[in-house]
Amino acid sequence: MDAVKLLLVGLDGLRIDRAFGTGLAPNLDALAAAGHFVRSEVEGPTISGPSWATILTGATHAEHGIDDNLMRGHRLAEHPDFLTRAWQRDPSTTTYAAAGWPNLTDPAGAGPIVRLRREQIDAGQHGVVSLNGELYGYRAVDPEIAARARLALAHAGPDLSFVYFCETDDAGHYFGVFTPQYDEALGNSDRHVGTLLDAVDARVRQFGETWVVAATTDHGHVDAGGHGGGAPEETQTFLLASVRGGELPPSLPERLAPREYVDWLLELRTGLGGGPGHAAAAEVSVGVA
Ligand SMILES: [Zn+2]
Repeated sequence: MDAVKLLLVGLDGLRIDRAFGTGLAPNLDALAAAGHFVRSEVEGPTISGPSWATILTGATHAEHGIDDNLMRGHRLAEHPDFLTRAWQRDPSTTTYAAAGWPNLTDPAGAGPIVRLRREQIDAGQHGVVSLNGELYGYRAVDPEIAARARLALAHAGPDLSFVYFCETDDAGHYFGVFTPQYDEALGNSDRHVGTLLDAVDARVRQFGETWVVAATTDHGHVDAGGHGGGAPEETQTFLLASVRGGELPPSLPERLAPREYVDWLLELRTGLGGGPGHAAAAEVSVGVA
């Protein structure tokens, strides 16, 4: 069997009750209807830095040592992101990350939580697109992330990818959650998810590939906008996993802590026939940029 691919989409500050079952995000609704949805709670501060570090590395708040978005004194050197871990386990693994929040992917930023791995970029095994939504606004930056990620997924088809959108968090902060602006941000983000799904589905049809497509968020927002506290509207998170060109296994977890998301996704991929020992000969070049 060919290597099973994995795409994790990160949607920052996504309120579950606004995104699902409201008609505002039809692609996410369809993904949930076909997939497995696990609701969960952030265990550390409901702040993007610590929460994404936990989700993407599998390390707890105490382990990675990140308290805020300045990320001073982080221990990311001891806690590689899931793309890096998969590559360390199987050096033929191709990986890709695209994000507009510099903490995630920009080596000049406070992290990055996702390692740059320049040697693998040079070898065509890894790709990184890093934009700056803090400076230019996620409403402007997210569509570019979606367009670049679509190209990478469609043409290179990396084994593992992480693609991140942040317009919902921005809209939550500026306008609050029950606002036309938040709804619009949800709709835009959902269209980006649809763009990525189109690329994945085209590969499923063309190459007969199997893809795990997952989505998650790092925290919610209080109704008026804002996060960082312990209210259920802020601690809420989820992992949604679906399989394109294949089936989810019959046994699925009822509960997953955010630190368990990527471990479970990597296990799911391996169980479906991807990962170590299953990787197809990787001749793909991920660096489309
Ligand atoms: Zn966030």
